[in-house]
Amino acid sequence: MSAIDDLPPLREVIAQHGLSARKALGQNFLLDLNLTSKIARQAGDLQGVSVLEVGPGPGGLTRGLLAEGAKRVLVIEKDARCQPALEEIKTAYPGRLEILEGDALKVNPMDHLTPPMRIVANLPYNVGTELLVRWLTPASWPPVWDSLTLMFQREVADRIVAQPGSKAYGRLAVLAQWRCEARIAMSLPPEAFSPPPKVSSAVVHLKALPEPRFAADPKVLERVVAQAFNQRRKMLRAALKGIVQDLEGCLREAGIAPTDRAEVVPLEAFCALARVVKNAV
Ligand code: SAM
Repeated sequence: MSAIDDLPPLREVIAQHGLSARKALGQNFLLDLNLTSKIARQAGDLQGVSVLEVGPGPGGLTRGLLAEGAKRVLVIEKDARCQPALEEIKTAYPGRLEILEGDALKVNPMDHLTPPMRIVANLPYNVGTELLVRWLTPASWPPVWDSLTLMFQREVADRIVAQPGSKAYGRLAVLAQWRCEARIAMSLPPEAFSPPPKVSSAVVHLKALPEPRFAADPKVLERVVAQAFNQRRKMLRAALKGIVQDLEGCLREAGIAPTDRAEVVPLEAFCALARVVKNAV
C-alpha cells in the first residue's frame, strides 16, 4: 500500500508490467507518490475540476491528481506498455479516469473535456515545449484551460519566467507572460526521477489571464518576437529588417531605440511595436 491510495507502490507497478524506462520516449519516472501529490497540488484545488495529463507513464502523477480530488482525469500516453498499469488506476477510481493511447502532438483531447479544465504534465522536454507553445497560442483567448502545471528541465523553466535583460529572456518568456501569470512552483533534483536525468527540473505554473496584459494582434506579435529573437545579438534595426517599410520609424513610435537588442525590450514595448507594425502594413 502507498501513502495516497490502496494501489501498489510504483516500483512494484513498474516491475509487474515490465515498464523499463525508454530513452527514446523521454521516460524519467517519478516514483514518490507524496511528491506526485505535491506536484498535483501546485495545480490548485482540484475539487470539481477536470484535468488533462499528457504522458502519465506508470501513473504516479495521475494517482496524485486523483488522490487530490480531481473530478476527472484524461490521460494521453504514447507508450502502449503503460495501458495495464493505467487500467488498474481506472478501476481504483471508478468513473474518474479516461485513458487515450496515442501521441499528444497528434490527438486533440480538448473535445473530450469541458471547463473548468487544467493541464498537468511531466513530459519529455521537446514534446513539452512544443505543446506549451500550442497551448499558449489558441485560436481565441481566454483558452479552454484555466492553468498549466508543467515539468520542464530547469533551463526551459527559467526561459518561461525570464525577465528582460537576462540571457534566458526570449520568445518563450514573451509568449508565456503576455497572457499568463507564470512562476516556478517547485524545483526538483535529478534524483527525484528514475532513471535520473542529467539536469535538474522545475514545475512551472501558468495561470491564464482573462485578457492579455497589453493589446496586440497575436499573429503580428508572434512574428515580430520570433524575428527579433532569431538574431538576438543584432540590433533591432537589423534583426527586424523587412518586417515593415519604415522600420526605424515604427521602432521609435513604439518607444524602442533602433539600436536596442531584443533581449532588453520589455513585453509592453513588444506589444506596442506589434500594434504599430499592424497599422503600418
Ligand atoms: N508522468 C510520468 C511520471 O511523472 O512519472 C511519466 C513522465 S515521463 C518524463 C514522460 C512520459 O511521456 C512517458 O510516459 C512517455 O512515454 C510519454 N510520452 C512521450 N512522448 C509522448 C507523446 N508525444 N505523447 C504522449 N505521451 C508521450
